[in-house]
Amino acid sequence: MTIKTPIAIAYGDGIGPEIMQATMRILEAAEAQIEPVVIEVGEKMYLQGYTSGIPDTAWEALKRTKVLLKGPITTPQGGGYKSLNVTLRKTMSLFANVRPCISYAPYVANACSNIDLVIVRENEEDLYAGIEHRQTDEVYQCLKLVSRPGCEQIIRYAFEYAQKFNRKKVTCLSKDNIMKMTDGLFHRVFNEIAADYPTIAHEHLIVDIGTALIACQPERFDVIVTLNLYGDIISDVAAQVAGSVGLAGSANIGNQMAMFEAIHGSAPDIAGKNIANPSGLLNAAVQMLVHINQPLVATTIENAWLKTIEDGIHTADIYSAEHSKQKVGTQEFAEAVIARLGQKPSHFKPADYQPGAYTKIECYGGRPQVRSQKSLVGVDVFIDNPTDIPAEELASKLAAINSPLQLIVITSRGLKIWPNSTIEAPYVRHCCCRFQASQDVKQLKAVRQEDILALLSQLNAMGLEVIKTENLYTFDGQLGFTLAQGQ
Ligand code: NAD
Repeated sequence: MTIKTPIAIAYGDGIGPEIMQATMRILEAAEAQIEPVVIEVGEKMYLQGYTSGIPDTAWEALKRTKVLLKGPITTPQGGGYKSLNVTLRKTMSLFANVRPCISYAPYVANACSNIDLVIVRENEEDLYAGIEHRQTDEVYQCLKLVSRPGCEQIIRYAFEYAQKFNRKKVTCLSKDNIMKMTDGLFHRVFNEIAADYPTIAHEHLIVDIGTALIACQPERFDVIVTLNLYGDIISDVAAQVAGSVGLAGSANIGNQMAMFEAIHGSAPDIAGKNIANPSGLLNAAVQMLVHINQPLVATTIENAWLKTIEDGIHTADIYSAEHSKQKVGTQEFAEAVIARLGQKPSHFKPADYQPGAYTKIECYGGRPQVRSQKSLVGVDVFIDNPTDIPAEELASKLAAINSPLQLIVITSRGLKIWPNSTIEAPYVRHCCCRFQASQDVKQLKAVRQEDILALLSQLNAMGLEVIKTENLYTFDGQLGFTLAQGQ
């Protein structure tokens, strides 16, 4: 007797239950060897008082099954509710979001007919770490954190994925012309790891031109690896260019756990009408079957689905008089796929997931590195300055400070406003005073934590409100901070 793989199933909200029902019917008819463990998450749980949208019983089921097939979730409007998707990704350490994006022309109308790309998006770091603060009455901050192990893990995953799925090129998208430290690290690690895969081509593009090219020449891409926010944005651009957000599935992969879902949301506007397209969730289920090593069932379902699309049997979202033969509802679409199990598409390239070829990709970051020589050389002190003390006046006040650290520059949102500012009316209500023990960035002197604490205490005694400090370090003599614009 075959041992069935336990899979946690969350039906989700809005159209979730109907597309999950359609998907489960197809999985059952194709004899997928899974044991569904239904868990309750999402809107109902939020409304019962679980602010994360997930009760402890569901966590227990997830810990046991380690694999989740999830319908879309509605996050209730209003404060206090955390996104369940972000919670799941982070708690389950799902570091990679893998989104294949394929066009199905001429059967599904789209902007570009020849798309077959996969987006590998970093899933845990970047601005999505969700570390935000209101610092002053007027200024809010969102912290962008990027770690070397995080970059190594996602970039290696992208190359391993390319190798396993016989892809030829990996493109890295970043904005390292502006964010030289965070995105710069991502780009640097990309170059390092690419060197381990000489048979796979690699390139780097700045994310803005990269996004433009995805929109107008998507066929030039194969595998794309990028940071969290850019990955989120380009996934929707690519899905839309390919034809419909209703078609694409996505896998959230960790080394121990994995979650599979459609890329679209809960579509409350069409919920309960039996008109939603279940294809996105079904394609996610195919990714899941490959992941749990049931490649033959995955092949059978994908081919039956491709044949259904080729036969022009379409749900309303992709129906067109020109390309379709029959408009069907959600459950009728599932029946059409079931009727084609065992058939292959004739226009599209049939799926053929080979047994044993797609063993789970495990990736870890944190390659051994020689630790850099880290030296404390100064501090950035952010000040709430609600009474608009001009930068010149602030600087002469700070000149009175008795410390080895001296004021080097004052900036406002990254722009130098003292000394020698040419700005007409600088914004000073939120400003940053940089203190170092020497002016020359090429010959920075080490300072002690005690000096910084004593400096802060003096600022406090002067009545200045310190809202944040950021230590300035060098690493093996290299600056660990950027200079101000205009410095
Ligand atoms: P959405 O993806 O739900 O809907 C956007 C549009 O696409 C709507 O017109 C909808 O009818 C249509 N659509 C979406 N899926 C479809 C399908 N399978 N078949 C046919 N048409 C489909 O996006 P939204 O309206 O911005 O969000 C609705 C809710 O979903 C929000 O609460 C949002 O937070 C949530 N959401 C959840 C997830 C997730 O669980 N992964 C992802 C995105 C949005």
